[in-house]
Amino acid sequence: MNSPGDEGATRPLKAETALVTAGRDTKAQKGFVNPPVVHGSTVLYPTAEDLHAHRGEFRYARYGTPTTKAFEQTLMALEGPACAGVGIAPSGLAAITTTLLAVLKAGDHVLVCDNVYRPTRNFCNGLLAGYGVETTYFDSMIGAGIDALFKPNTKAVLVEAPGSQTFEMPDIPAIAAVAHARGALVIDDNTWATPLFHRSLDLGVDISIQAATKYIGGHSDIMFGTISANARAWPDVIETIRQLGICAGPDDVFLAIRGLRTLAVRLAQHHRSGLEMARWLAARPEVIEVLHPALESHPGHAIWKRDFTGASGLFSIILKPAPEKSVDALLDAVKLFGMGYSWGGFESLIIPFDCASYRTASKWAPGGPALRLHIGLENVEDLKADLARGFEAFNAA
Ligand SMILES: *Cc1c(COP(=O)(O)O)cnc(C)c1O
Repeated sequence: MNSPGDEGATRPLKAETALVTAGRDTKAQKGFVNPPVVHGSTVLYPTAEDLHAHRGEFRYARYGTPTTKAFEQTLMALEGPACAGVGIAPSGLAAITTTLLAVLKAGDHVLVCDNVYRPTRNFCNGLLAGYGVETTYFDSMIGAGIDALFKPNTKAVLVEAPGSQTFEMPDIPAIAAVAHARGALVIDDNTWATPLFHRSLDLGVDISIQAATKYIGGHSDIMFGTISANARAWPDVIETIRQLGICAGPDDVFLAIRGLRTLAVRLAQHHRSGLEMARWLAARPEVIEVLHPALESHPGHAIWKRDFTGASGLFSIILKPAPEKSVDALLDAVKLFGMGYSWGGFESLIIPFDCASYRTASKWAPGGPALRLHIGLENVEDLKADLARGFEAFNAA
């Protein structure tokens, strides 16, 4: 029985193939395609000599199991040859905070994009500040101008491409060139595109993070996070994971592997449906702007085209000025779009947002109420009808 993951291919496998074949060890699984879900803590050593030498592939489940190994190998194959290792965390936020603790220490300074995921901002302003690390927020459209914000103690730059509410598209290669010239590491929260659509480690990023709760899990049924690092960053990342005791439960790791196997087909559909809904919304009289990087009208479109091979199903719209009760009438009228946080699952979601009160380096004044939509895997004609019903209620209120 061949194991396609280790047949010694003569050229690198394409991403879709790597997602299906990597991390498989069918011989060890007595022919089964999938790895076992190892519920375990203790690993037994057969002899005293083995015990003293810590001999054996696994030592203790917190450091890895056959299940985590299969996941890590699959994500590494997707990230590409620049990836030196994948760390796993119990949530996306834990992946981010663990990474920041790995690269920063008391007296250091970090540059963080102003459109950052808000709980990341809370961590920088809270625990990280308490540990003596200073944060400066920057306008994510700053590009090479970020050079002016560096201090002698700046150790890292954190970007999100694009921001998961407002969809600004930072120029990662330009930011990375400056950061590396200054001796700092670049961290990218790559949850929106995933490494399937954005190979950030090839574009100058040192550590690429996934809230795998979103598209990798893909079914709104797990909390999970990943840290993919290049050779420069990996030793500090894995050491910090070990010292902090970060790990994840085997059932969630298994569901994340299962999610990776179908990531390419799901994302291709999210891309198609998302773009079709974005174009449909752009033509609606109630909508003054659609914030979707794959639309030609988006200010970050050229960067998206250069650095990304696809778009996911998450984007935002700005409605024409209207009172809150009109927006609430829209939200209450839609039935297929659920009101809830998170995204990346099979289902469509809608949520109002306003980041004006907590931004510090850039101004958020879009000129009307803002809604973020996640386009799920439903039929787009049904989704259009649902939003049309919402707009009717919006106009009537
Ligand atoms: C959801 C999200 C996170 C956090 O992931 P959790 O698994 O919910 O902790 C981080 N970054 C972005 C961009 C997210 O959307």
